[in-house]
Amino acid sequence: LGASAARFDVDALAEGTSSSDLLLERAARGAGSGSVLVVDRQTAGRGRRGRQWASSPDASLTFSLLWRFDGGVERLAGLSLAVGVGVANALAALGVRGAALKWPNDVLLAGRKLAGVLVELSSERRGMVAVIGIGINLLPPPADAALDAPPAALADALPALPERHALLAELLLALAPALDRFAADGFPALRDEWQALHAWQDAPVRVLRDGRVELEGVCRGADADGALLVDTARGVERCLSGDLSLRAA
Ligand code: ATP
Repeated sequence: LGASAARFDVDALAEGTSSSDLLLERAARGAGSGSVLVVDRQTAGRGRRGRQWASSPDASLTFSLLWRFDGGVERLAGLSLAVGVGVANALAALGVRGAALKWPNDVLLAGRKLAGVLVELSSERRGMVAVIGIGINLLPPPADAALDAPPAALADALPALPERHALLAELLLALAPALDRFAADGFPALRDEWQALHAWQDAPVRVLRDGRVELEGVCRGADADGALLVDTARGVERCLSGDLSLRAA
């Protein structure tokens, strides 16, 4: 990691429930900002709303990064979008072309999910701690995984796969500046970049809640809080992530 190495404290486990669950426990015990936990074989990998994240030691990189922020939870609006920008920048540095972001937390390649981001927050006496979980497919996930849609993998996009430690290093090197900019100026600092990477910017979309269509319209990006803006027949509506899912219309 070169000069930035001092910012990270990387630990790896051959097996564990999920990198985020384990790092959340370490955060509660005082682990420092920049702590990274890689779990090669996750027995309970999670996405949003307790959904499963499929991974295997050969096919995936699954890790979590702990980052502390000053101020209250309102300062962290849009953090998962800022993380997406960092991941996309790392992929570009690795030579992956055409990675796109899907609000609020996925990284797509040719419209398929290549990586997932799961941001979990807790408040501390002097600020907030974020545990940022990232799962990225090097190869397609196991065939028996229950997926809503066909996934993407780095192997689709690169002539040779990077070593997992090199991929981790690239991700951390790109995440640190994105998180620093976010810490200084919030999501507005990264908003233009996020919108340039957004898969359905200015395109027709549907917003689903529990699988049912809640909104339909043209996606107009995200506001300063990272809320999705959808231009509907009733005017522009703001969607806060929670239990909403975005689809192309
Ligand atoms: P959406 O926004 O489309 O509703 P989501 O953001 O809720 O999706 P996540 O919670 O981030 O999805 O991820 C969990 C979902 O991702 C699973 O339900 C599964 O369909 C899919 N998934 C799980 N593992 C992988 C994987 N390794 N690669 C691609 N997709 C996966």
